[in-house]
Amino acid sequence: MPNSNIREYDVVIIGAGPAGLAAGLYAARGNVKTVILEKLIPGGQLNNTQDVENYPGMDHMTGPQISQAMEEQTKRFGCEIINNCNITNVELTANKKLIASDKGIFSAKVVIIATGSEYKKLQVPGEKEYSGKGVSYCAVCDGAFFKEKELVVVGGGDSAVEEGTFLTKFAKKVTIVHRKEQFRAEKIIQDRAFKNPKISVIWNTVVPEIKGDNLGVTSVKLKNVITNEEKDFNCDGIFIYVGLLPNTQLFKGKLDLNEAGRIDSNERMETNIPGVYAVGDVRETPLRQAVTAASDGSIAATIAIGYIESLHDKMVKK
Ligand code: NAP
Repeated sequence: MPNSNIREYDVVIIGAGPAGLAAGLYAARGNVKTVILEKLIPGGQLNNTQDVENYPGMDHMTGPQISQAMEEQTKRFGCEIINNCNITNVELTANKKLIASDKGIFSAKVVIIATGSEYKKLQVPGEKEYSGKGVSYCAVCDGAFFKEKELVVVGGGDSAVEEGTFLTKFAKKVTIVHRKEQFRAEKIIQDRAFKNPKISVIWNTVVPEIKGDNLGVTSVKLKNVITNEEKDFNCDGIFIYVGLLPNTQLFKGKLDLNEAGRIDSNERMETNIPGVYAVGDVRETPLRQAVTAASDGSIAATIAIGYIESLHDKMVKK
């Protein structure tokens, strides 16, 4: 990486979801020079969630409202946030940490990786073709386009069942298609869906193809995984919630990743490289929610401040 025009920081945080914003808040309050580099705008997956009921103390706020409050609070304590920052390369070693981006090159004493995850694709014919024309991964963003329409939701986790319920605010009917005979979503989320008269469920079924015309999606092919029976199912749109993929492409070969492509940071959020931490959805963790992401961020920043102080102590002794 060329060394001209490098901007120097104590802490560079990559990603401004709840994990990155909390890390930024704690680092800035710890009086270390901190910047968050965000690929889009702050909020991460929170921006795709309408009703957040399980962030303690924030009972009546939407995901975007919570992320905005977090962003404002983090900036208020002096953390810089650079939006629309496309990172092209990273150099991460114990002694040198450089991040190259279309907004310049950044050097840091500490890097906190909070790149989160993105929605997994079904990878079936028609998915790419009709993306934005009836295929969606974000009910909050696209739900309102489907007033009085018939929708299919794929998946059986918290996202599918919760967002399927949210979509009934707009749609005439929502059919959740799940490959097993039971959901893995939290019970309270399931109960709410089962009680909703606009929701029906098709079990043991996958979607091998999405069909449409030049205006958008018109139907999906459904395949029963027990009988192998296939049929076409008419709908105006399909929302896909089949899990999350960690955003770790930048770090392949530069940091230890596990089989799932996630970063195995320990309870102090440390990775295998001194001074590099991983927080939130991008790390291997038993619970992926805004509150656990924020918790990870606060731990990483606190440990990182101690690490920066130890570097300073070493310099003074030399
Ligand atoms: P998830 O928990 O990984 O669930 C993915 C679902 O998609 C599973 O039901 C899975 O089926 C199904 N699936 C996976 N690949 C498929 C394929 N190719 N075809 C058809 N179905 C497929 O993902 P998520 O629901 O997005 O949740 C991700 C994380 O965020 C979780 O930790 C969740 O708890 C958290 N989250 C929390 C909340 C909340 O607290 N309110 C809301 C949203 C998400 P199987 O069940 O058969 O594996």
